[in-house]
Amino acid sequence: MTESPVLVGMSTSELREWVATQFWEPAYRGNQIAQWVYRRAVDSFEAMSDLPARLRTRLSEVALITPNQIDITQRSRDGVVKGLLRLSDGNEVECVLLPYEERVSVCLSTQVGCAMGCRFCATAQGGYTRNLTTGEMVDQLLHLQRLSERPITHLVMMGMGEPLLNLPNLVRALHLIHEEVGISMRRMTVSTVGIVPKIYELAEHRLPITLAISLHAPDDETRAKIMPVNRKWTVETLLQSARDYFERTHRRVTFEYLLLREVNDTPDHARLLAQRLRGVPCLVNLIPFNYVPTPDQYQRPEVERVQRFRQILEQAGIEVSQRMERGHDIDAACGQLRGKHRGKPIPLKMSYSVSH
Ligand code: SAH
Repeated sequence: MTESPVLVGMSTSELREWVATQFWEPAYRGNQIAQWVYRRAVDSFEAMSDLPARLRTRLSEVALITPNQIDITQRSRDGVVKGLLRLSDGNEVECVLLPYEERVSVCLSTQVGCAMGCRFCATAQGGYTRNLTTGEMVDQLLHLQRLSERPITHLVMMGMGEPLLNLPNLVRALHLIHEEVGISMRRMTVSTVGIVPKIYELAEHRLPITLAISLHAPDDETRAKIMPVNRKWTVETLLQSARDYFERTHRRVTFEYLLLREVNDTPDHARLLAQRLRGVPCLVNLIPFNYVPTPDQYQRPEVERVQRFRQILEQAGIEVSQRMERGHDIDAACGQLRGKHRGKPIPLKMSYSVSH
């Protein structure tokens, strides 16, 4: 663990106060530092060229921009980069850069491990260690920005962990990324396993983000089998919280629906789903299972089964999307973020420059 002050995680106003009280510098130096840290994503004080040289030296003596390090663990042919952030206490979380033609997205973790125990998820198999701090969440984005040729435009909180069980740090991270990095909240998605009281609590914040709920089954019996969390909150209580979320925020909810062959992908499941979602303003995002070895030996459904499922929902008037799958050749897809990195990391190649 480090004792030095860490800049990533501090807001402009905190940086202003810090430079003024610690270094007797004019407060606007704090604005300059924030620009370098968040907008330009620099990783050295030396690079902060509009600060006086003596201040840069002082800063590098007493503070750290970040105490964490990134290893690139895999790069896929379609441009996806999977990173492993090594935290100052030795823990590790994964994060992913997903470049598309019209946007650059990142998938970030919110906890070290996860306690939710979903039967199909690789992260669940490692158990839960701890919540990430606000700075550790923002830091994943900044590290990925340095590896990206284009500015990051979108983010999804769909890496390791359950975001709503780390709500205060999560909300602060979303604010920091919005206010300091400059990514609109409309381009942020938070995905939850369905922690019902926390969905109500999040609604109180009235953030213009997208809430994605991992529904994955329309009935309690199926859902409880694959997601232990359903033993605590039923499908009906979860759907009620989604309705409430929409009423308060006017943001349509996304329901993620992971398709597992013969488990939750039959026409009957599709019909029941359509029936239960009637009257809930939503989008259903179908995710064919990304293969990970699981105790139940889940399989991915054939394309025709996915199409049939989709058709039934659409005929019932439900809007459906299918997750664009990326990074398959490197196991960077959802639910696959765990532990294959034990080999040698790929050396960092700095190809990054952002100009704002
Ligand atoms: N804990 C949060 C966010 C992290 S998981 C949540 O549950 O939503 C992000 C998404 O990936 C969730 O929808 C999750 O159910 C899904 N997922 C997990 N394992 C998967 C797998 N093997 N294949 C496809 N999606 C998976």
